[in-house]
Amino acid sequence: MSRYLIDRYQALEAYTPGEQPRDMQYVKLNTNESPYPPAPGVTEAVLAEAGRLQLYSDPVCADLRDALAARYSVTRQNVFVSNGSDDILNFAFMAFGSPRAYFPDISYGFYPVYADLHGIAAHPVPLRSDFSIDPTDYTSLDGFIAIANPNAPTGMTLSRAQIEDILQTNPDHVVLIDEAYVDFGAESCVPLTAKYDNLLVVQTFSKSRSMAGARLGFAIANDGLIADLEKIKFSTNPYSINRMTLAAGLATLKADDACMANCQRVIDTREATISRLRQMRFEVLPSKANFVFARHPHANGGFLYRQLKARGVLVRHFDTPRIRDFLRITIGAPEQMEVLFEKLEEILDGTVAADKY
Ligand SMILES: *Cc1c(COP(=O)(O)O)cnc(C)c1O
Repeated sequence: MSRYLIDRYQALEAYTPGEQPRDMQYVKLNTNESPYPPAPGVTEAVLAEAGRLQLYSDPVCADLRDALAARYSVTRQNVFVSNGSDDILNFAFMAFGSPRAYFPDISYGFYPVYADLHGIAAHPVPLRSDFSIDPTDYTSLDGFIAIANPNAPTGMTLSRAQIEDILQTNPDHVVLIDEAYVDFGAESCVPLTAKYDNLLVVQTFSKSRSMAGARLGFAIANDGLIADLEKIKFSTNPYSINRMTLAAGLATLKADDACMANCQRVIDTREATISRLRQMRFEVLPSKANFVFARHPHANGGFLYRQLKARGVLVRHFDTPRIRDFLRITIGAPEQMEVLFEKLEEILDGTVAADKY
């Protein structure tokens, strides 16, 4: 830190992204990327756009917003797009978060960072002991609410009806539903955006549409909330989405059936993974995401994480209270999961008595 950083940022603790090591080729199951390549047509669309990089991108993102509007049965005025959904979460905290924000105590690690960044008082709401969200904890609150559904890193969900109750009792505050993983089996709240002007649904192309490296997120809401987000975007960086990413997004939506078919493959692999892990005596939380959150009764999370890494398999471990026993394991391709199972068996065989696993 230099002596020039202004006071209010000095204590800011930045978000820690999952590691992207370069020392060897890992089976990478730590950052919830898709194991499948971008949709057919994306590479060609990006290459065509690369030849026009001397020109600024469309700040209104008209074509992409129209394509998203058609896909989700809304209008362009109901769609906001930006450079990754993290960008949108940041704008949403900036626009709607003051003076206080509520979110689950175990959830996406960026929420407390954005609260801190914008001088918003963070109110973490504890999950139940089974790691589920109690929707009644969010009844009639006095501030902005952010909930990931499915939640991360648990993968557990609320139903649309449960979220509707939260919306109804908080008419004077924005309720942000972060649907980064919704395409892997949860109920989306997009249909509620026509009815509730305080609902902001945020999604991303990063996970279910194999575009984490392109940085593209979108939000769907009533036109008032979208206009507010546009105001913030046009007050920071109107060209935040580059031409290649806009083209990739459009091409992806043209081949959306292929993306949704990949999601189904991930769902099938997830279910197979859950039963395999349970056979090894893991406790696995019920997941509707492209990852599972699991702990073993006789081997702690940090140990398993390190042993797996030494064997070339990367998973995510959070060394924080209540969840340090767990591993968050991204669902990869079936072959990748086979490597994981083989290494886990090797580790458990070597350290855990046979009758305990
Ligand atoms: C991955 C993730 C995001 C961020 O997605 P990007 O669009 O890649 O910025 C947002 N919310 C949650 C809960 C996530 O897991």
